[in-house]
This record gives sequence, C-alpha cells and structure tokens, in this order.
Amino acid sequence: MTEQPRLAYVGLGSNLDDPEHQVRRALAELDALPLTRCEAGSPLYRSTPMGPQDQPPFINAVARLATHLSPLALLDQLQALEQRHRRVRRRHWGPRTLDLDLLLYGDCRGRWPRLTLPHPGITERNFVLVPLADIAPDTCIGDAAVSHLADAIDRDGLQRLVPQQ
Ligand code: AMP
Repeated sequence: MTEQPRLAYVGLGSNLDDPEHQVRRALAELDALPLTRCEAGSPLYRSTPMGPQDQPPFINAVARLATHLSPLALLDQLQALEQRHRRVRRRHWGPRTLDLDLLLYGDCRGRWPRLTLPHPGITERNFVLVPLADIAPDTCIGDAAVSHLADAIDRDGLQRLVPQQ
C-alpha cells in the first residue's frame, strides 16, 4: 500500500454482451475497489476494432483513480474485475466482454514481466487518447501533453456517444 494516493488512469473496452452496460458497470466497480476511488470517468466512445474486422464495434472510456494500491496490486484488481465480467477472449485482438488496461500510474515508468508503464499502446490508439484527453488534458506522456497528442491523432472510426439522460 502506498502512503499518499496516486493518480492512475485505466482504459476500458468492451464489444460483447451489451458493451455499453459492461463499461458503465465497470466504471462503478472501479470506484468500489479496495483503497481506491474513481474520481472521474470520461464520456463513452464507439470505436472500430483493431485487428480482425469481423467483430462488433467497441465501447471505450477512461477512468481516473486515486489509489493506495501499488501498481501490481492495482493490476491484480483490474484482472480480477475482468474475470468477474466473465471476460471472454477467444483470439488476440478479438472480441471481449471487458478489457482493462492500466494506462498510467503517477509518473511511474518501467517494464516488469506483467506490467509496462505507461501502457505502450496509448499514443497510437485514438480510443484511448481521446477519452484520456477529456479527463487528463495536461498530463504528459514523455514530453507531450495528452491534449496535443489527442489533437494530432486521426479520429477515423471514433464516435462519442450521446450521454444518457
Ligand atoms: P491485453 O489482454 O491485451 O490487455 O493484455 C493483458 C496482458 O498484458 C497481461 O498479461 C498483463 O500482465 C500485460 N500488461 C502489461 N502491461 C500492462 C498494462 N499497463 N495494463 C494492463 N496489462 C498489462
């Protein structure tokens, strides 16, 4: 357990079993993780899948957590949450009920057997960068602010969902 809470950003994605519901439920469940509070959730986005195209579109969002968990303890919790959503994953980059990526954990950088921080996919994926910019525009990845990276990325296939009343 860390003494001061650290800010961590988690990317959420789903394209099976009512994906919008999966993501909204997961946002609430992140807030219920031990020693962790979900401070903000981005709007939801619909995105075309990476890899195989013969699968439904994804629903994506990003959450900001304030957590006392260490990076690996948080990863354990995220993976347990994926399992609780009965994560189905039949092939690489294929459909899944819930995918949770630890995008950023404070200014922690490094590569461990189970964890790479920042998550290596952030800067190439519009469905990560754009919702991340909604809630963390001034956060830097390397030398660049998230808002600048999001402004520069191609938004092809990415659509913001109209918020529910
Ligand atoms: P995927 O299902 O494609 O998201 O990949 C999950 C695998 O990536 C797991 O074995 C994790 O241990 C590993 N991994 C490495 N870095 C990260 C990260 N920053 N967030 C989530 N999973 C990670």
